[in-house]
Amino acid sequence: MLEMCFLGTGGTLPIPDRALSSLYVRENGRGLLIDCGEGTQVGIRKLGWGFRNLDGLLLTHFHGDHCTGLAGLMLSLEKAGRDETFHIWGPKGLKRVVEGLCVIVPPLSYPVLLHELPPAGEEMEIIGLKIRAFPVDHGGMPCFGFRLMLERSAAFDPEKAKALGVPVQEWKRLQDGETLRVGGRKIRPEDVTGEKRKGITAVFSTDTRPCETLSRYTREADLLILEGMYGSEEKLPQALKNHHMLFREAAEIAREADPAMLMLTHFSTSVEDPEEFIPAAREVFERTVAARDGQIVTLRYPRGEEKAWIGLC
Ligand SMILES: [Zn+2]
Ligand SMILES: [Zn+2]
Repeated sequence: MLEMCFLGTGGTLPIPDRALSSLYVRENGRGLLIDCGEGTQVGIRKLGWGFRNLDGLLLTHFHGDHCTGLAGLMLSLEKAGRDETFHIWGPKGLKRVVEGLCVIVPPLSYPVLLHELPPAGEEMEIIGLKIRAFPVDHGGMPCFGFRLMLERSAAFDPEKAKALGVPVQEWKRLQDGETLRVGGRKIRPEDVTGEKRKGITAVFSTDTRPCETLSRYTREADLLILEGMYGSEEKLPQALKNHHMLFREAAEIAREADPAMLMLTHFSTSVEDPEEFIPAAREVFERTVAARDGQIVTLRYPRGEEKAWIGLC
């Protein structure tokens, strides 16, 4: 199971009920943030998932609406009694940006490790997720999207265990990952499992025009989280100029990728009520919803070759 919470769904500037961009991703008790707009620490407090179990932060890019919450977050982590390393990943130039943003932060009780994002396609493992960063088109500003994968282990196959002569009372140990010796023969957990099962894939990408990498990395994902910076078609010149997307353009990407759901976020202040533009986006891709601040998304493993189950609350 993979859980996410939209801490902020605003782009560029916050409005009273819409904080700036940040997503809290939680898997098996560990947490990861994607982006840290101003006020992210407030969203985490409201959510109640905690600071101590946050292992790191992925930054898409260095525009202020995605990173100005960093100093406050660092202080909140300190107050939560953190002593383990906190990791931050971001585009080239990360050190200069983090040092600049945190110039007012006093010496911390925990180490902070900075990692420039690896070239596209290279896999990172964070909080048990396999994550690939891919470059997108945000004009002159280097910007990345993220493809998150939660793999699923193969199921235990009783027929294989029986065929290898493993007594039933020992099955649990194999299921728990132990290697056994049966009649002088070594039996490993992978000797008694069936086919690999489909896991869960989610893609987060904001602040981009439609582009080839976005199309490529969204393919066959279960959940797409893309920007809906502008709702109205009249805003296309602005979207082109500022390297953002319309609801319709995000829905077109989803139509190609065919996820179980498209969630739009990163709304411009010109989008007073995102729901107003959802019917038109649904004409392009039916399973489109507008995310809201504080919304929690739960993804459960799919059955067979189906898409993952997605619940919203
Ligand atoms: Zn932005
Ligand atoms: Zn931006």
